[in-house]
Amino acid sequence: MSATARDEALELVPGLVERVDASGRYGLVGSLCPDCGASAFPRAGCCPQCQGTPQRRVVGTAGSLYTYTVVRTRAPFGLPEPYAVGYVDLDESGLRVFGLIDPAAVDALAVGQRMEVGLDRLGVDGGGRPCLRPVFRPERMAADTGVGR
Ligand SMILES: [Zn+2]
Repeated sequence: MSATARDEALELVPGLVERVDASGRYGLVGSLCPDCGASAFPRAGCCPQCQGTPQRRVVGTAGSLYTYTVVRTRAPFGLPEPYAVGYVDLDESGLRVFGLIDPAAVDALAVGQRMEVGLDRLGVDGGGRPCLRPVFRPERMAADTGVGR
């Protein structure tokens, strides 16, 4: 994807993902409770464990694919057919997060494989406008699309 195509689309849910370094890696933005250490994604306004006040924190940039499914029915919101969704266990926080998987990886997925967080132009929003969505993608593919290509 070119930078121009990415710039024309807006994040579907702003603030869920942010770039974490100059190499183009992304992280999921959640929260960490300073009182009990509980992490949450998306960001929690109140700690689900102790009712404390969590702080904004990147809770994961990479992890392992816990499970996934490939959806071959008619896709909503302009998503490609087929598309895949799955759960990834994040390295940094231990959270198990559900999300879209890069459609280019649909035929190359395996439970336990390493995944990274990405932000890709994918589908449309409720008004039919192209949008950026957080995705999980195999680490090797993420490296292939990094800076310097
Ligand atoms: Zn807490």
